[in-house]
Amino acid sequence: MNIKKNIFIFSKKLTEGNAVDVNKLGGKGANLAEMSRLGIPVPPGITISTDICNYFLEHKSLPNNFELLLSDYIKKIEIEIGSKFGDYNNPLLLSVRSGGRQSMPGMMETILNIGLSQKTIEGLILKTGNSRFVYDSYRRLITMYADVVLEGSKNLEKEGIRQKLESILKNKKKSYGVLKDSELSTTQLIEICNLYKNKINDVLKKQFPDDPNEQLWGAIRSVFLSWNGERAKKYRKIESIPNNWGTAVNIQCMVFGNMGENCATGVAFTRNPANGDNNLYGEWLPNAQGEDVVAGIRTPLPINNSSKNNLTINHSTLEETFPKIYKNLIEIKSLLEKRYKDMQDIEFTIQDGALWMLQTRTAKRTGSAAIKIAIDMLNQSLINEKDIINRITSSNIEEIMHPFFNPKSENSISPLTCGLPAGPGCATGQAVFSPKDAETWNKKGHDVILIREDTSPEDIHGMHASKGIITTRGGMTSHAALVARGWGKCCVVGCNKINIKENKAVIHGEIIKQGDWVAINGTTGKVYNKKIELIDADLKENSDFLNILKILKGNQKMEVRANADNKKDAIIAKDLGARGIGLCRTEHMFFSPERILEIRKMIVFKDNPKIRKDAIMKLLPYQKNDFYEILKSMSPYPVTIRLLDPPLHEFLPQELNQIKDLSLETGVSIKKIKSITENLYESNPMLGHRGCRLGVSYPEITEMQTTAIFEASANLKLDNIPVYPEIMIPLVSTIEEFKNQYNIIKKCAANINDKYKIKLNYKIGTMIELPRACLIADRIAKYADFISFGTNDLTQTTFGFSRDDVSSLLNDYMKKNVLNVDPFKSIDLEGVGELMKIAVEKARRTNPNIKIGICGEHGGDPDSINFFHNIGLNYVSCSPFRAPIAILATSKII
Ligand code: PEP
Ligand code: MG
Repeated sequence: MNIKKNIFIFSKKLTEGNAVDVNKLGGKGANLAEMSRLGIPVPPGITISTDICNYFLEHKSLPNNFELLLSDYIKKIEIEIGSKFGDYNNPLLLSVRSGGRQSMPGMMETILNIGLSQKTIEGLILKTGNSRFVYDSYRRLITMYADVVLEGSKNLEKEGIRQKLESILKNKKKSYGVLKDSELSTTQLIEICNLYKNKINDVLKKQFPDDPNEQLWGAIRSVFLSWNGERAKKYRKIESIPNNWGTAVNIQCMVFGNMGENCATGVAFTRNPANGDNNLYGEWLPNAQGEDVVAGIRTPLPINNSSKNNLTINHSTLEETFPKIYKNLIEIKSLLEKRYKDMQDIEFTIQDGALWMLQTRTAKRTGSAAIKIAIDMLNQSLINEKDIINRITSSNIEEIMHPFFNPKSENSISPLTCGLPAGPGCATGQAVFSPKDAETWNKKGHDVILIREDTSPEDIHGMHASKGIITTRGGMTSHAALVARGWGKCCVVGCNKINIKENKAVIHGEIIKQGDWVAINGTTGKVYNKKIELIDADLKENSDFLNILKILKGNQKMEVRANADNKKDAIIAKDLGARGIGLCRTEHMFFSPERILEIRKMIVFKDNPKIRKDAIMKLLPYQKNDFYEILKSMSPYPVTIRLLDPPLHEFLPQELNQIKDLSLETGVSIKKIKSITENLYESNPMLGHRGCRLGVSYPEITEMQTTAIFEASANLKLDNIPVYPEIMIPLVSTIEEFKNQYNIIKKCAANINDKYKIKLNYKIGTMIELPRACLIADRIAKYADFISFGTNDLTQTTFGFSRDDVSSLLNDYMKKNVLNVDPFKSIDLEGVGELMKIAVEKARRTNPNIKIGICGEHGGDPDSINFFHNIGLNYVSCSPFRAPIAILATSKII
C-alpha cells in the first residue's frame, strides 16, 4: 500500500483532496478539503483515507511507517498554525473525527481536545489566561476518551462509562447549586476531572493517559474500530450501506467555542430543512463546544428570526449578537450552494470573534423541502431539469404522500402540548418510552410513538420501529430531528413541558402511560393524547409537486399506467400522472349481495345453460355502469379491463344462511347446493378454476362482461367522449384458451357495432402469468394486440411459491441469505426476468408492433423498472399512489 497516497492535508497553504474524492476521504474530509480550496476559513488538518481503515480492520495494525509519515504531516500543520502538539509554551490541541462516504449521523466516534496533559494544561492556562476554559475542555476530553477509547465497543443495553461520568457531573452541579455547565468554576471543574479519572480507574481498571501522543493514536485506532461498532452496523443495515466502505479519520486543529463570551458554536442549514424556505436556518450556543448543540442537552438559540419557534421567540439571535459573523455565514451559504449546487448542513465555531467552518455536507430534508428546494434552485439556475431527476428520490415522493390528520378530527380536540415540527407528516400510535419497547410492540403489530427526553445513536433501532418520535429536549438539529428527517419519519422535538418519569409522560397534570394513544403533527409540532384519524395528502394543491411531476413527465422513457378498478381510483391515478389503466380487475365488482346471488345461481345451474345465462345477464346493467364510469374517468386514455379472474371457489356460498338464501331463491334443496359446493371445492384455488378457465367453462361470463364493456364504450362514443377499451384475457397457458375467449369477444364487438351502427376502436390482449405462456408468446402474439405481464402470478408459478402463504418461508430465506430480495417485490432477474425476456423476443418476432406492459406489483418498483425498459416493455402499470414514483423511475432511465 502506498501510504503517501492515503494521507491528505487541508490547509491555507496546501490542500491535497477535493469534494470529488469522497470514496477515499469520506464525506467530511472531502468537504473540508473543498472548503479550504474555496478560501473558506477551515482549521487546518489531515485526512487519513478509508483504505487505511480497511487495512487496519483487516490486519489489526497500521501499515509500516504510517506513524512516521503522519507525524511529518502534523509538523506541516504545526508550522502553519504556529503551535505545537504536546508543547508547554504553545500547545496545539487536535480533534479526531470519523467520516464515512455517506453521512451516518452520530453512529461513529469523535474525540475533541486531544493533547491536554498536566504539562500542556499548565501551558495553555498561561497562554490563554483562562483556566476555566482549559479544565472544561479537559473534562470533555476525559469523557470522550473514556467512552470511545478506554471502554470501546460497548454493550448497548448497559449503562456505559459515559453515562456514569455524566451522572457525576449532574450530581456535582446539583451540589454546587449550578444549572449550566458553563457556570462551573475552575476549582469545581478540577474536582470533577479528578472524580472522572477515579471512576475510570474503578470501572474500567484503566488509566486516562497523560501523554498527548498516546491519546492521539488511541483516538485514531478507536475511530477506525467504531466503523464496526454495534450502532454503526445497525445503521448501515437500515440504510443499506456496504460494510466494506470503511471510515476516513480527520485530524484537525481545535478551535474553541467555549473560551468565553466572545466564542460560540452553531449548526445551520443553508435552507429550511422542514419546508425548504430559502433562508439560513440554524441554532447556536454561546460559550459552548459543538457537541452541546447536536446532543440536544441545552435547547439552543435561533440563528436568525426565521429560525425562531414558539420556544425561542424571545431569545437573542446570532444575527443580533454577532452581526459580522452572520454576514460571513450568509456569504459562505451562497459560496457553498454555488459549489455543491445543493442545500448544505454546516457546523461552525466562533473563537475570539473569528469564524471557523468545521463541516459542510449535503443536508437531509423532508420530502416537501426536497421538492421545493429543487424547484427554487432550478429557478435560480443553480441546477437543471436533469439534476432534479437525479436528485429527487422515490422516498421524497412517498413522504409528501404521507397521511395527514383529518382536519375535522384534529380541530375537534385540543393539543396537550406543542414542540418543534422536526419530521414530516402526522402519526398516531401507542406510547412507548424505550427503543426496546418500541421494537417489541412493533413486532407484535402495534403502531407506536416513541417518547424520550432525547435520542442518541444507540436508539436508532427503536426509532426505526416507531411511527413517530417525541423528544422533550433538543432543537431542529438534535439527533432525533436529523435522523427522523433522514428517514421521512414524523417527529416533534423540544416538548419541554413533558416530564418523563418511569415509563410515564406527565404534561400539565395529564399522564400518558405506556400503551396510551398519542398523536403528533410533524408540520405544526402539536402533540395530542388521543388517536386521530389519518387521511391522504392532497397533492393537487401542492404546486411544487405538480411542477416536479411536469418535469418528470417530460423526461419519461416509458408509459406509466395505473391499476384501478373504480372511478375514484381512476381519477386519483390520472391526477397523479398515470396515462391509462393497465389493469382494471373486475372481481371486486361481483361481491355485493345482489350481484353475488346471480353468480351463485349460475354455479348452481351449471348444467342448465339457459338459467345460467339468464342469471349472469342480470349483472349486465351493473357491469355496464361500472365500466362506463371508469372509461369516462380515464378518457382520453386507454383502459385495460381484465375479464373475471378469481377462483370460482371464492364465490361459493360458505355459511348456512347463504346456502338457505340460495335455496329459497332457486328452489334447489339445501342438500343439493351443499353437494354442488363440495364438488367444486379446490385444495389449491390459486392454481385452479380461475382466469380464462372460468370463461371457458362459463362462456356467458365473458359474453356478459364484454357486452358491458362495449355497450359502455358505445354510449360514451355517442356522447363524443373518446374511449379506448382493451379487453384482457387472464391466466392463459395455451393458444386454444386464448382463441376460445378471443372469438367470444370478437362476436360481441360485432353485435354492438351493428346495434349502434358504429365502429368501436378496441384491443384484445392477454396477461402472461404462466411460464408456459412465456414460451408460446410468439403464437399468442399472432392474435393479441397487446400482452401484459402478471408478474405476481408469474413469480408464483416460476418459483412454485404460493403467493398467499409464502411470507414466513421468505423471511427465513432472507435471514439465511438464500434469497437477497423478496421476489414478489423486486423482479427476480435470473428466473422470472429471463422468462419475460424470452416472451418479449418471441412475441415481437411474430408481431413487431405488439404493445407489451406489466401490471403485477413489480410495475411500481423503482428497482425493477430499469429492467422492464431494457427488455423492451412499453409501459408499466402500478397502484394509483405509486404512479408518481414509477414516473420518477422511468424518467431516471438513462
Ligand atoms: C398478476 O398476477 O401479476 C396480476 C396482476 O394479477 P393478480 O394479482 O390479480 O392475480
Ligand atoms: Mg394474476
